[in-house]
Amino acid sequence: MNDLSHQTAASVLETDVVIVGAGPIGLFAVFELGLLDLKCHLVDILDRPGGQCTELYPEKPIYDIPGIPVISGQELTDRLLQQIKPFHAQFHFGEMASALKKLPDGRWRLSTDAGTQIVAPVLVIAAGGGSFVPKRPPIAGIEAYEGKSVFYAVRKMEQFRGRDVLIAGGGDSALDWTLNLAPIAKSLTLVHHRDGFRAAQHSVSRMRELVNEEKIDFHVASVKALHGDNGQLEAVTLAGPDRKEWRQEANAFLPFFGLTIKLGPIADFGLNLHENLIPVDTAKFESATPGIFAIGDINSYPGKLKLILSGFHETALMVQAAFHICRPNEKLRFQYTTSSSSLHKKLGVA
Ligand SMILES: Cc1cc2nc3c(=O)[nH]c(=O)nc-3n(C[C@H](O)[C@H](O)[C@H](O)COP(=O)(O)OP(=O)(O)OC[C@H]3O[C@@H](n4cnc5c(N)ncnc54)[C@H](O)[C@@H]3O)c2cc1C
Repeated sequence: MNDLSHQTAASVLETDVVIVGAGPIGLFAVFELGLLDLKCHLVDILDRPGGQCTELYPEKPIYDIPGIPVISGQELTDRLLQQIKPFHAQFHFGEMASALKKLPDGRWRLSTDAGTQIVAPVLVIAAGGGSFVPKRPPIAGIEAYEGKSVFYAVRKMEQFRGRDVLIAGGGDSALDWTLNLAPIAKSLTLVHHRDGFRAAQHSVSRMRELVNEEKIDFHVASVKALHGDNGQLEAVTLAGPDRKEWRQEANAFLPFFGLTIKLGPIADFGLNLHENLIPVDTAKFESATPGIFAIGDINSYPGKLKLILSGFHETALMVQAAFHICRPNEKLRFQYTTSSSSLHKKLGVA
């Protein structure tokens, strides 16, 4: 009797491959697996697909996807979803992959915090940096404003049209959103605790130009207090380097103080992690545990670059090895999507 014997058939889902993470790389894995007739389920803590692309920079342009000169994080996600449509992957959103067990028949059983159990011969971890949590600035009572007038990410730029926006921080997110929101905000003020930035130099230069043109304000200052009612911000208290304080009107506050990445339960999957990353070989992108693969930002190998492009490449190689585990008695024939009529059929373009 195997480990499933005590459960009802309905409570355990069975598939070829279970993927942790529906970021761009997890989504592309659905496509590559689908071409080989491998079915999959994806689990993601977020409530929608896209990972960092949709969570952190949905409207920012990406310029280094081969063949696509410019595409936003959201558009790339939408196009990946369109590309994987023929393969009918099953998504489990809002669920944390929380436990992993090897079954006596050699397959893996992944459990989520919502009670879903998925059994598959192959587990693919495409969990990026894990679940990312924005760093909350140490300002008393800020929780009451979060999601109403204090935001740690920009989901829809339109939300800030005509508002008095205050941005705090000195990294890429703070500078990028300063430049992107300046044309639509009623007023925009950037504050940073020093007159030096970690952001890309061209963004800093452009920000300084906007200050010179009196289109935005910049202060070397820290936010000391928030003022408002029912979560709606009306003003903030700022303090300069000389500790002099002043009140400034603002009805939207975007603190960009970085993200804390929490790997979460994957750390307990017994994967021989190195600095919270999963070491893999570069032929198959398999971890040290046979049957468990890691692709995208979560893996590490000599020369690794955390780019979408790298994750796509890793995925194409990973599925070749995954196929042999899922279909040990079948031969794998290499085929081009341009010329294979069997691939055309799978893609619904025959
Ligand atoms: C501001 C910014 C700009 C960028 N610009 C570019 C660019 O121009 N070009 C480029 O190539 N790259 C860029 N990147 C990097 C790129 O976004 C990442 O390389 C890419 O998102 C990695 O994809 P992924 O699928 O591996 O991981 P992610 O996108 O991080 O997705 C991982 C998913 O796994 C989920 N997850 C994690 N742990 C669990 C768990 N235990 N259970 C369930 N779900 C889990 C997460 O919720 C997440 O949705 C940028 C990144 C940032 C932050």
